[in-house]
Amino acid sequence: MDLQSQQIEAIVKQVIAGMKGTSAPAAKKPAGGAIPKTAHVAMLTKLGHFDIKEYPIPELGDDDILVRVEGCGVCGTDAHEFKRDPFGLIPVVLGHEGTGEIVKMGKNVKKDSAGKPLAIGDKVVTCMIFKDNPDITMFDLNKQNVGGADVYGLLPDDDVHLNGWFADYLVVRGGSTIFNVSDLDLDSRILIEPCAVLIHAVERAKTTNILRFNSRVVVQGCGPIGLICIAVLRTLGIQNIVAVDGEAKRLEFAKLMGADKTVNFKDHKGIEALTEAVKDAFGGYYADFAFQCTGSPVAHANIYKFIRNGGGLCELGFFINGGDATINPHFDICAKEITTVGSWVYTLRDYATTFDFLKRAKAIGLPLEKLITHKYKLENINEALETNLKMEGLKIAIVN
Ligand SMILES: [Zn+2]
Repeated sequence: MDLQSQQIEAIVKQVIAGMKGTSAPAAKKPAGGAIPKTAHVAMLTKLGHFDIKEYPIPELGDDDILVRVEGCGVCGTDAHEFKRDPFGLIPVVLGHEGTGEIVKMGKNVKKDSAGKPLAIGDKVVTCMIFKDNPDITMFDLNKQNVGGADVYGLLPDDDVHLNGWFADYLVVRGGSTIFNVSDLDLDSRILIEPCAVLIHAVERAKTTNILRFNSRVVVQGCGPIGLICIAVLRTLGIQNIVAVDGEAKRLEFAKLMGADKTVNFKDHKGIEALTEAVKDAFGGYYADFAFQCTGSPVAHANIYKFIRNGGGLCELGFFINGGDATINPHFDICAKEITTVGSWVYTLRDYATTFDFLKRAKAIGLPLEKLITHKYKLENINEALETNLKMEGLKIAIVN
């Protein structure tokens, strides 16, 4: 064979390898293709403390998938469990915002929950674990969110042990929802779960029929949830967004995510002055629609004042019970005819929508990956949770 035909052969091989796309080119396999005999998990063994434990990787059933974990976001829920164990799960392997690579599959596994083929080397995320609930099927889900369903990272410990994403391996059992997200980079994959919360919130907001391309939208609270809310609205094509928060740094970030103007509530004494500042930011108008993204009862009570007659509100900040808020039903809801929706968690369909949102956000130049302000190794998970509890940074991630 002469040199030229050797080169041609090499190019052809490359092209064929490229055409296979996500279906497991050899290079994507774990180093050496070897799967270790044991895996490590961060087990929350008591309040405020994880122990790194080592367990054998069990035999896989025909419907099971073994995933090598690449990373997992730290969620507010993880922080609550770490501090107080409100769900009574200890001992537990936490971490539900995780992603990784398939290293082994049972013989029955062919496709993900959206019908996309699955192969060794594919990058995946999990969502809920199906229970015997006939109302929950893949694309019949907008009627019901997945709150209350089982997810990896909030399962009680059992003899498999590899039950959460704060680990180096996870066993995904048959009957779980799993998605092939090989076309998203690691940071995007770590952000899928929190982004799905906002895809759902905006879908809920759209049911009011008030949200339009040219709507004036106020987003109150610029933690990760409020910031992603702004990014979702901007990616939808809504430009007239005013962000409200008490921290200059977060408000700067809100602009990066697509907010047009920002209002720092610390610069304005009292709700009248704050309302005027929000109106000024909209050029003298009230908001058509508001997203309440804080867990503060005062913030909930205040937000009605920013909304015009006939406007809408989506409350999603009270992800957990943050106490009662005092409003005046006559002035705040009735006389202004405000349409309110609540939003909590997401549906499976929202999960799939989120993959496309992440690609579109990137395409219009929103630097979502900057939301991940801290990355820790699994062995430093205690420090990661302490950082989260100190409210430092935005999204904290464990990256293997
Ligand atoms: Zn979460």
